[in-house]
Formats: sequence, structure tokens, C-alpha cells
Amino acid sequence: MIAQTTYPFQLPELPYAYEALEPYIDRETMHFHHDKHLKTYVDNLNKALEPYSQYHSWTLEQLLSRLSELPEGLQKAVRNNGGGVYNHDLYFDLMTPGDQPVAEKVAEAFGGADNFKKEMKAAALGQFGSGFAWLVKDASGSLKVIALPNQDNPLSQGLTPVLPLDVWEHAYYLKYQNLRGDYIDSWFHVVNWKAVEEALKD
Ligand code: MN
Repeated sequence: MIAQTTYPFQLPELPYAYEALEPYIDRETMHFHHDKHLKTYVDNLNKALEPYSQYHSWTLEQLLSRLSELPEGLQKAVRNNGGGVYNHDLYFDLMTPGDQPVAEKVAEAFGGADNFKKEMKAAALGQFGSGFAWLVKDASGSLKVIALPNQDNPLSQGLTPVLPLDVWEHAYYLKYQNLRGDYIDSWFHVVNWKAVEEALKD
């Protein structure tokens, strides 16, 4: 995962073919989303960090967790572009073809798989403008659903990111236009729950 790597950050490859998530997420959207949007976040993060050599040894996870310690001139760029890199890398990584049942731990924490989906969808629909809905783990280890604007990352709030759902229009507009709810329903069909379960093991 790119979270454990350092400057200069590299554009990660998609872990599946561009059309692999069809019909839920289309090939063209994946091309724009990965090749253009994510690439721009990677390039802009590297550009912003270039003059700050004292942070070239920090992993992306460290940069986002310790955002408030960064100099003013760098903080916003890392928040937006560093978040953009981390959030997209995890979003792409945690999708896969083939419907999988919601991870047991998650279903348990929310009183059933359907309740989890309801909460995640409500958070995703309720995010006004651009942002993500997140399944996160708090300091006590409890799972919860939150929404964060723009490319803000849960690490900057002391939370552990588990599963992101991108609800920026660029994530769905080509196929779903204004129907964010339909895109969210489709996304539930491609969540890589096995990988989520693996991440929740420790
Ligand atoms: Mn996006």
C-alpha cells in the first residue's frame, strides 16, 4: 500500500482490469478516476513536498497522521493531495469483482449487514458536495461510519481508515449523472470484504 511509502510517491497500478467492475463501475470512469484524478494527486503531492526535504523520509501515513505538525505552507497541500492519494489508493484496493457478503465483524458491529449498508449510504448521501463516506475504527477499537469533506483523511482525526466510499462526482457522474444513490447501491456489489476482514484481524 502506498500509505507505507515515502517521497517521491508513485502512481499505484489498479489491482484489476479497468472494466473488471462492470456493470457497477464502468471502464471509462475507472480510466479517468485512476489515470487522471489519482495521477494528479500524486503529482501535486510530490511537487508540494519537493522543497521540504526534511519530510522526504515520512510515509504518507505519517504525513496524514501528523498533519498539524507540518509547516503552514505544506499542510494544505498534504491534506488535499496526500489525502487524495491515500483515499483513492484504498478505495481502488478495496473494490473487486464478484459480490461478497459483508464482513462478519462489520455486520456484528452495526446490528446486521443491511443496517451497515443503510448507515454507510446515509453518510454518503448526506455528504454535501465532494467527500467520502468512511468506515473507521476509533481509538477504543469500535467501528463507526462517518463522512468527511473533500480529501480529508480519518488519520488526521486520530481514527483508523477501514473502508472509503468516494462520493465526488468524478467517481460516478459519467455513468450515474446526478444519481448518487444508485452509484452507492452499485458500489456495495464490488466491495472487497475479504480484504476488509483481513485488515480488521488485528
Ligand atoms: Mn475520487
